[in-house]
Amino acid sequence: MNDRPHTLILVDFDGTVTQNDVGASLFETFAPGHHQRIVSLWLGGRISSRECLERLCKLLKVGEPELKKFVLSQKIDDKFPGFVDLCKCKDMDLAILSDGLDYYIRLILDKFDLEEIPFFSNVLKFEDGRPAPEFPYFDRGCGKCGNCKRFHLKKLRSEGQKVVYIGDGLSDRCAATEADLVFAKNDLSRFCREEDIEHHRFSDFGDVSRILF
Ligand SMILES: [Mg+2]
Ligand SMILES: [Zn+2]
Repeated sequence: MNDRPHTLILVDFDGTVTQNDVGASLFETFAPGHHQRIVSLWLGGRISSRECLERLCKLLKVGEPELKKFVLSQKIDDKFPGFVDLCKCKDMDLAILSDGLDYYIRLILDKFDLEEIPFFSNVLKFEDGRPAPEFPYFDRGCGKCGNCKRFHLKKLRSEGQKVVYIGDGLSDRCAATEADLVFAKNDLSRFCREEDIEHHRFSDFGDVSRILF
């Protein structure tokens, strides 16, 4: 028998933990003019999110100090810290899965004293001051995601654990089709409706807490 909690909660980062899509606003701000064109190739399924991020990072015109300042100005869902506390009280495992970049996820979690939450994402390094993305999990995924969330869901799930997935967008689809219970908003909610995936719609973590606890 394993002694893991009976429930594993997996949460998307951009637009779910944070109020805005931090990755998208970062590229809109620091790779202006190119962002929409490249992102629409990804949304249309013509390039992977890995290729999308690689292309966008090449166009980034920003030094690390300015990038850091931008990231630290981002806001989270103000109900999220309370949700994290409830998960702890109820002895549920919690992790963040992101097809974004560790650089801003780590800064934001630290800022809000949430650094104890494990997260799995792509990586952003600075080589000679230039941003360079890395994709440590790409080979284990579906080929469309830079960091496929289905891979992490299967790896993190202990035997018999019920998985709750909470997200808002395209990068959440691979996990949503595998989870036992889905909370969805925006594009993910449309996808779940079209694919007949049972889900709860939510607008913030207050809604999720009310339904889950
Ligand atoms: Mg998202
Ligand atoms: Zn995937």
